[in-house]
This record gives sequence, structure tokens and C-alpha cells, in this order.
Amino acid sequence: MYLAALLASLTISCFKQDPILQKPLTIATEIAEQYPLDAFGYPTSVGHIKRDVIQPNESLYALLEEMGMPRDSIYQVSRMLNRNFGFRFVKENQVFFRYEKKTPSLGKKYAPILILMESNVRYLKIDWQNNLLVEASSKPIEIRLRQVEGIISSSLYESLISQGHSTGVGIELSELFAWQIDFFTLYKGDRYRAIYEEFISDGEVVGVGRVIAAEFIHQNRRFEAYYYSDEQQQGYYDADGNGIQKALLKAPFTYNQRISSSFNYNRFHPVLKQRVPHTGTDYAAPLGTPVIAVGDGVVTESRYRGVNGNIVQIMHNGMYRTAYLHLNGFGPGIRKGVEVKQGQVIGYVGRTGRVTGVHLHYTLYKNNVPVNSVQIDLPSQESIKDSSRDSFALEVQKLSYLLSQGGIVMAINNDLNAGEKSS
Ligand SMILES: [Zn+2]
Repeated sequence: MYLAALLASLTISCFKQDPILQKPLTIATEIAEQYPLDAFGYPTSVGHIKRDVIQPNESLYALLEEMGMPRDSIYQVSRMLNRNFGFRFVKENQVFFRYEKKTPSLGKKYAPILILMESNVRYLKIDWQNNLLVEASSKPIEIRLRQVEGIISSSLYESLISQGHSTGVGIELSELFAWQIDFFTLYKGDRYRAIYEEFISDGEVVGVGRVIAAEFIHQNRRFEAYYYSDEQQQGYYDADGNGIQKALLKAPFTYNQRISSSFNYNRFHPVLKQRVPHTGTDYAAPLGTPVIAVGDGVVTESRYRGVNGNIVQIMHNGMYRTAYLHLNGFGPGIRKGVEVKQGQVIGYVGRTGRVTGVHLHYTLYKNNVPVNSVQIDLPSQESIKDSSRDSFALEVQKLSYLLSQGGIVMAINNDLNAGEKSS
């Protein structure tokens, strides 16, 4: 942490003298010999680096806001970019990296650092750990495919680390098999194989991308997943082309309801006159409107609980949980421990607990961290379209061959910026 602060302050002082694009300081590489720093100059303690892409209609503003950057800093960033970088807008599918914290605090899943790739060489670093730092840099990043396989003896993480693979692979695997396997109940003797993307810069692994094929044998049941994408679809499928991930509904209503307050880490409370994070979405639905379960699951809470009023919580799998607050009353048979189906009425919109008016406060949790249910890209459950069956079958053939090739490493297309390529 000390090192990061030192580098940040050094760079900031230069930045103030000359608000033109700064080259990374050479001191970073000198210190790197003593401390393990990643390719972007951060110690590994900052978190697990994760690749993502800009969603359709997503703006840099929205991304920074979602990551918890204060609004005045966002304006500062936008002014700097327009004046100095000519880096005006982010594009759909543009690649970026974030650091997933090992222990998220106050619902903040990511460290306050964003690495936005402009091409596969140039990137922009936005860092607000301490003072705001905006820095452009260039460093080639290569992608290669790696195969990993193992038998679980104590944990998946231990199995990965002992073979020199990143724990990020474990995170990817647990996400893609979230609907089939509860990763908290892995058994000794469970087996896995996977092919995943790895990002390399200056000969160092800087991050893990997508798992593109995987097989998991859990309690003697075999699960498989192949990543496939074309113009019509993308996602993970079994060898027969069935989608392996189940969708959650975007909102807990049969009909569209108006959002009266969005998910916002920096909401300014008009009465308290301070920032009060709003880690959910408020729907201004009429009193008594049925509230439905967004997905299959088990009710883990159904009761009156203080400021929340009548609350229902549903656990959908080892990863996703939802909460429905201020209900007027509960749906038929809804109580702790019962199973519910997607679309089942679990309660009715009300004004119980600490509220100013009738509304539903709805929160989606991913790994116990509240996430913006409106913006999050939820996995889909559709199967491969008939017109793509043949090319999907070829892909499965290729990937299952690679899965069986222990320890392969191969370089692939180095074009990180898929958005540029396809347009
Ligand atoms: Zn609310």
C-alpha cells in the first residue's frame, strides 16, 4: 500500500505541473524488482485483476459512478480527457480491467482503479485510491490460451495455485457453473479441466480472461461448458447446445414499473445532507402490486425486520441472492425454507418499515455484494440457435480436444479491442 501511495503522489505532483499526458515513471520498474507489482504498477494485494467490456450504451460516466467515484471527480476526469487525450467516449465492447477486492467493504466490490484499453497497446489508467490520477500509457498485452486440470484435495484455489495458475480461474469457473455446482460444497476427489485466456505483458501474467471451455466432475456428476459467440448469441452451453446458465428476471414485476430511485453508491441524502449509498432499486408501484421472484430459489427470510419492514430474501444459487423490502404482506405459502419458482408471487408492494411512501426496494446480491440489477449483464438460458448448430458443433470438437491436452499454452489473436475489429 505504501508503494502505491508513493507512486501515486509522485505522479500526481508531476501531473499538477503539467497537465499533459504523463509517461509512467521509471521508478516504478526499479522498485518492481523488490516488490511484486503487476504490469499496471499495482501490488497484488490490490485485488484480482478482471477483464470486462463496455456494455451497449454504457458510458465512462456510468462506469465510474458504478465503481463509486465521487461525482466531482468524474467531472474532473471528463474535463481532462476532453482537453488532453482526445479519448472522448468509450465504445461498446471496449476492453477494460478492474481490480476485484479480496474483501469488499461497504458493498464496494472493486478497488478505485480503472484501466481502460484504447487499443491493444495503449491504455488509460484512472486511479482515485488517494488523489485522482489520470495517466495514459502503452504496453503491449498478449492473450494466450492455457489448459489446467486437477483433482480437488483441499480446495479449488489450492489446486490452482499449487500448479502455478491464477485464482482468477477459480472465480471464473465458479461464475460459469454457478447454476450447477455450489462451490462451497466441493468434495475431495472432484475433478476439473479448463481452457482459459491469460493476459501477458512484458512476459508477466497480468490477468485472467474468460474460461472458454471447462469440465467439472462434482460428486460423480459431470458438468461441461463451452463458450460460444456469434452475431446472434453468446454464452456458455453444454455439448448439445443447451444454455447452462439460468436467467434472472430484470425486475420483480410482471409489468414494467417506474424506477423512483436508482442504485447509486453516492446518493446525496436530502435530509441527512450527506452521501448515503442506495444499494438497490426502488420501484414506485401501487400499493398491493404483486411482487414476483426473479428466479427459482429458496426463501431464506420472510418476516418483519425493523427499518426494512416486511422483507423476503431468496437464495437462487451459491452466487445470487435477492431481497424485497417494505412489503405490505407475503405471498401464499411464503415462509423461510420454502422453494419458489421464477415468477411466483412472494409478496405485495407496501410501505412497511422506514419509508416515506409506497414502494418496493429491490436488491440483487452477487457473492453477498449488492450489484445494480438494472445494469448487470445476467447470464441467459437460451439454447444455441438452429442456424448456428453446425459451427457450434465444430467449436465443441476443437475445444474438447484442447481440454484433453494437458498443460497446453498457445498464443491467440492479439486483438484486444474487439469493438474496433468488428465495426
Ligand atoms: Zn430503496
